[in-house]
Amino acid sequence: MYVVGTAGHVDHGKSTLVHALTGIDPDRLREEKERGLTIDLGFAWLRLPGGNEVSIVDVPGHERFVNNMLAGVGGIDLALLVVAADESVMPQTREHLAILDLLQIERGLVAVTKKDLVDDDWLELVVADVEDVLSGITLEGAPVLPVSARTGEGLPELVSAIENLAADAVARKDLGRPRLPIDRSFTISGFGTVVTGTLIDGALSVGQEVELAPSGKTARVRGLQTHRKKLAHVEPGTRVAANLTGLAHEDVIRGDVLTTPGWLKPTEAIDVRLKVIPSAPRPVRHNMFATVHIGSSETVARIRLLEKQRAEPGESTWAQLKLDRPIAAVRGDHFVIRSNQTTLGGGTIVDPHARRHRRRYRPVLERLAVLAEGSDQDVLLKSIELSEPSEFQWLVNRANLQPSSAQCELTKMASKGLVVVLGERAIGPGVHIFTAVGWASLAGEARAFLDSYHSRFPLRKGAPKEELRSRLRMTPEVFSGALLRLQEDGVVVEDGPMVRLPEHTRQLSSDQQREVEGYLRLLERDPYSPPRESPLDAEVLGLLVDEGQVVRVSETVVFGPSAYEEMVERVSTYITERGEITVGDVRDMLRTSRKYAMALLVHLDQQRITRRVGDARVLR
Ligand code: GDP
Repeated sequence: MYVVGTAGHVDHGKSTLVHALTGIDPDRLREEKERGLTIDLGFAWLRLPGGNEVSIVDVPGHERFVNNMLAGVGGIDLALLVVAADESVMPQTREHLAILDLLQIERGLVAVTKKDLVDDDWLELVVADVEDVLSGITLEGAPVLPVSARTGEGLPELVSAIENLAADAVARKDLGRPRLPIDRSFTISGFGTVVTGTLIDGALSVGQEVELAPSGKTARVRGLQTHRKKLAHVEPGTRVAANLTGLAHEDVIRGDVLTTPGWLKPTEAIDVRLKVIPSAPRPVRHNMFATVHIGSSETVARIRLLEKQRAEPGESTWAQLKLDRPIAAVRGDHFVIRSNQTTLGGGTIVDPHARRHRRRYRPVLERLAVLAEGSDQDVLLKSIELSEPSEFQWLVNRANLQPSSAQCELTKMASKGLVVVLGERAIGPGVHIFTAVGWASLAGEARAFLDSYHSRFPLRKGAPKEELRSRLRMTPEVFSGALLRLQEDGVVVEDGPMVRLPEHTRQLSSDQQREVEGYLRLLERDPYSPPRESPLDAEVLGLLVDEGQVVRVSETVVFGPSAYEEMVERVSTYITERGEITVGDVRDMLRTSRKYAMALLVHLDQQRITRRVGDARVLR
């Protein structure tokens, strides 16, 4: 499928030509018919001699409605510029061409209409004029065809020129993420909300759940149409009318984007490569306000020039657009800026979710240059740097790459050591990725944290993993992948719930060693009723517990290991023989106090050796 957009000065014959070609009057509104003037977008379609259909978006040529023209021209494949032979090139001929150039519309053709009103010499001059204005822009060299909608002369040639251009068109990219920038929404009684637009970047199907960006409202596709025909499925590069359930017509405005849920995050600041068109009447100044057109949306924005105070006509520069309301856009989208009803410039979105930058700051400008012109690998690296680690799907959306090609690039990058991929799964959704530099700095941070932890607590086995995780500000999911990798890299050693540096060892001082020996002797003296207050430092006692030199059954009760084992053995045997044991039984059997007996049994419950039944314990 193929979408043709008209362009050209008011009254040059666009709507008449579309009508003559398609039999469909693109002027829909009563006001348009009454005034004989195209105000808003019109839609028609043409069946080519070869059988294929092309959609036609007819735009208004009047200077007051350039905003409407911009809403329709977004997704087109081919521009049909209309120039009236009696008037030749006029202001909106130039403005529309400048817009097509800014939007990087590479294909097109020119119909010099109203041929019936002029003689051949004049026609020749007009054709020369047209060729002149095309020079130096994307449409340079486009075929120029004289026609008359009134006599029908030249129309077959025009149709076959459209067919030729359509035949060698490159297929629309399918990123698997449909976006329908909405140019109209209305209600049909009995059906509900209908939205229309030119579908890009992916397909849509009936029944599918969709989201409206930037509002985030969700809906379901109840029906789809192209050229008034019902379809179950529509491919990118098609004019689409989508009937939605779950969404009121008032919830939708022109400029909203219909897409799959969950990925297209609204933004209010975007970094761009901005070109001021040579014919702009004035420079673009830092901090000036302008209207920004992206897709079918129109928003007021403050333009922050990142390199200079002003950008003169013909100049290109880095800029940030601070929008006065959120919009939905992706890297690589084109935009146009206008102010006081004139087009000043436009360009390409480089980073759709920009931070505030220091102006005239080299690293920022260099990063933007990579995002704009770098290879996919460069773009992936720069995008990961923005938020490390990056989740695969987030990254693909941010870089606006095809998932399969991102997968392939990242695999190559991982094998070259440029990126570090967490976990063992194949690169895909849910997998987190670091740059090599980001990973090294994370490993450094982990090492520094553990280093200081070990020097604060030299007798502890290590730091609780949870503490390291919160230090590294990671979600549990990302942390478990990171920890695995840190172990593989020999940065840390995992030990149960603890984590430590590989070289960490625990060493008691000779004083501590002496104290320990004294304490162990003390435990042996009255093994079932050892001293309740340990004379040891808590850290030293902790080490003994870790090493199994003592068994801690409660906050205050610590037994020697042989006494402990004996007690467990005796309790188990007791229960085996008599079926159950009470606190009093333990006390009497071990000739100890109730407190010790109680502490032991509670501990055995926790160890899942015993289980409490009423006042007694049985074996588990
Ligand atoms: P638009 O504003 O570019 O859409 O222009 P319209 O299609 O509304 O045409 C403007 C006027 O030019 C109308 O009065 C048309 O009838 C007239 N017109 C359009 N095409 C031709 C043509 O090929 N020959 C002549 N003689 N008049 C034309």
